[in-house]
Amino acid sequence: MKIVNPATEEVIAEVEMADAAEVDRAVERAARAFPAWRAVAPGERARLLRRFAQVVEDHAEELARLEIANAGHTVGNARWEAGNVRDVLNFYAGAPERNHGKQIPVPGGVDVTFAEPLGVVGIIVPWNFPMVIMTWGVAPALAAGNTVIVKPAEWTPLTALRLAELALEAGLPEGVLQVVPGEGEVAGARLVEHPDVRKIVFTGSTEVGKLIGAKAAEQVKRVTLELGGKSANIVFADSDLDKAAASAPMAVFDNSGQDCCARSRILVERSVYDDFLARLSQAVREVKVGDPNDPASQMGPLVSAEHRERVASFVTQADVYAAGSCPTGPGYWFPPTVLAGSSSESFRRAFTEEIFGPVVSVVPFEDEADAVRIANDTAYGLSGSIWTRDVGRALRVARAVEAGNLSVNSHSSVRYWTPFGGFKQSGLGRELGPDALSAFTETKNVFISTE
Ligand code: NAD
Repeated sequence: MKIVNPATEEVIAEVEMADAAEVDRAVERAARAFPAWRAVAPGERARLLRRFAQVVEDHAEELARLEIANAGHTVGNARWEAGNVRDVLNFYAGAPERNHGKQIPVPGGVDVTFAEPLGVVGIIVPWNFPMVIMTWGVAPALAAGNTVIVKPAEWTPLTALRLAELALEAGLPEGVLQVVPGEGEVAGARLVEHPDVRKIVFTGSTEVGKLIGAKAAEQVKRVTLELGGKSANIVFADSDLDKAAASAPMAVFDNSGQDCCARSRILVERSVYDDFLARLSQAVREVKVGDPNDPASQMGPLVSAEHRERVASFVTQADVYAAGSCPTGPGYWFPPTVLAGSSSESFRRAFTEEIFGPVVSVVPFEDEADAVRIANDTAYGLSGSIWTRDVGRALRVARAVEAGNLSVNSHSSVRYWTPFGGFKQSGLGRELGPDALSAFTETKNVFISTE
């Protein structure tokens, strides 16, 4: 597979794609490494994860540069992502000694529970945040005593491959963390089918997530699914309109809109609709799109030519209210684009489907109930924002919107120490936060008779 820099269209690497037999060999290595890894004393497993975090820190700039070249991320974002990998590893390095069971009162004996590791875990990763999403699965899975195989997305395997090398350098035993690049339908599908893979963590499209869920069900294989989104940014008339309008563009255009949490539908109370649109348009025209290596750039290119074509298919000129600018020439550039309030079929499609690019659709609403109705009128339920100065309304709407991650008067991004995941067709299960290990363990109940 030729790996292309999306900002220059230059080939930067060639990576061999694994076939099913190669996946089988990786599963065999992971299964062989499992008994010794689960037996590593909790404190020692913690020390190894901390050392891994330190090696990531020592190579943070290298990892960031790799992500800029491979995925087109801006330098600010890529550095944050390398730091996030370090932090997530450090956070779950605190977990092995805290992976408690319970002691439950019973007559005639003692009842205790154990959180047992599952075995080999497969983690299938999308291209939008390659190293971060990989680590959200890897760190708690390893902390709980599982061995892990990561299948990165076809277009963006470079940081994952480097992280696997850094894990070995940090002292993780061979076979405990492997990265196997390959096609979804080949390597990914084999991981899902392989009977010795006990759990799949899949992050990607809802379409593929459904296929994986169905396939996994044949073996009652555990799954965590982190899928698509079409999140609402709800702006009430009593909000700080300046702040709401100034922050709205990057709540959807960050990472060029290739973010499952992108607030790609803006719902504005009708009395301030025109005012908000005027301010939003101004803010969108000021978004700096350009060379991801330039610290001034807020937005880089899209990940590939194919993806740019898909994003463009959602934009009909008649629906465009405002657009920013972007470079011309080599690179998969797309300008930040605002579509507003039309009743056309094309607008409806853009308002409903996940575009995964720098396109935002804006509609007016009448009152609180109308805002909640529109926000929930989607199969997705990942995240969302609510802008209001009325604390009662903020809480009512936050409770009423069917989504897993909401923020009030902010577009809070994911924090590794709080739970993350989707309602409805945005997913199944949660990642991150204090309880992440429960997704990588089975509860075993043991009764010991004292009679
Ligand atoms: P995708 O579903 O096309 O691919 C994701 C991964 O699955 C890739 O590694 C791919 O190779 C693999 N894959 C594809 N077909 C497969 C199959 N049949 N069996 C096994 N594996 C297979 O998604 P994408 O285009 O890479 O990523 C974009 C999508 O990911 C968007 O819908 C986005 O919302 C979603 N996403 C969700 C979250 C979240 O946490 N909820 C985070 C990031 C991205």
